[in-house]
Amino acid sequence: MVKVLECEKCGYKEYLFSEQKDYDRCPSCKSLVIGQEKNELPEQLQEIINIANENFSYGNVKTDNYSALFEVRELFKKPEEIISSFEKINFYPFIRKEEGKLYVLLRSSSPKKDFNYKKNLILFILTVISTTIAGYFMSVPHVEYGFMANPWVGAIAFSFSIMVILGTHEMGHYLVARKNGVDATLPYFIPAPFILGTMGAVINIRSFIPTKNSAIELGLSGPLAGILVAIPITIVGVVMSPVVPTTIFEGSSIYLGEPLIFKFIAKSIVTVTEGNSLYLHPVAFAGWAGIFVTMLNLIPMGQLDGGHIARAVLGPINHRYLSFIVAILLFGMGLLTWAGWSLWGVIGFYLAYRGHPGSMDEITPIEGNHWIMVGLAIVLFVMSTMIVPIKIA
Ligand SMILES: [Zn+2]
Ligand SMILES: [Zn+2]
Repeated sequence: MVKVLECEKCGYKEYLFSEQKDYDRCPSCKSLVIGQEKNELPEQLQEIINIANENFSYGNVKTDNYSALFEVRELFKKPEEIISSFEKINFYPFIRKEEGKLYVLLRSSSPKKDFNYKKNLILFILTVISTTIAGYFMSVPHVEYGFMANPWVGAIAFSFSIMVILGTHEMGHYLVARKNGVDATLPYFIPAPFILGTMGAVINIRSFIPTKNSAIELGLSGPLAGILVAIPITIVGVVMSPVVPTTIFEGSSIYLGEPLIFKFIAKSIVTVTEGNSLYLHPVAFAGWAGIFVTMLNLIPMGQLDGGHIARAVLGPINHRYLSFIVAILLFGMGLLTWAGWSLWGVIGFYLAYRGHPGSMDEITPIEGNHWIMVGLAIVLFVMSTMIVPIKIA
């Protein structure tokens, strides 16, 4: 026999295993719920309770159709063992400490769909085509000025460079996700009909991140892998870029922002004197774009790469505040500098609103070597930051 407070309106139930009550208000829809005696537990809850009994002691259990919340008294096992024992029955446990109280929130995992590589492959091919076309239009003026013989060579070099940078960034995430037992898809490249020929690439995380340490690894892995390829590509590109007097560009031309990484590379390879300018080869442009993408991803907001790290370090509430503050700053920056930041601010509001589910185990502290990774992410962000990425003058 177990007593249950059940809400007929919304499906909320509280199983009274320890503290007894006769009635209460439903916490989600506020209707009055009255206690009833039940002879046995629903099958799925019984399965959950069996696993819970092996892992921790608890008081009353609150459930709805998708989740179960345990107020935990004592954990019998390590968080990682608790996670793996619930994952076996297709539940994700979120272990949280709030105001000194321990909770385990179980969320059912949607049945795993078979992964279909077709979409990734089609998007990859489309993006190869769109970046090649973008590279062609970039190369035409180089041919007109006599710096390049064939625009298709520049086109293919650009496409190859940008695809390698974006692909390495995403594979960094993918491999670290796999290592940490996170279910992630292969990269989806996003073709675009303008400037770079792509809006970047994304992987889709289909499960949850186990620990704060793995969230930091996951956030850093993409930007670090991407920049390690973007740097040599930028070097090669700058070597191939001619220094030209600015007077050769009649009418308008595009100036790119110079993040610290780019400045170091350019300064150590070429000397650009007053009245001259580095006329970026498409490969150098791809390297620059790789640095730009690194910065955008490291913005500490929502579920961006920088957002994963910020969530692990700051916890749910401060992460949410920071996301909104950064979104406001970006929006404001856009009014004063590059208008594109305002668009990022708007995207940021959406990301901040959506929030971040956090990692499953948020009670295990961040380890020493993972603090080094946090530092590295900050350094990388500063080194790749540019206030005005693109200026047309
Ligand atoms: Zn209700
Ligand atoms: Zn990333």
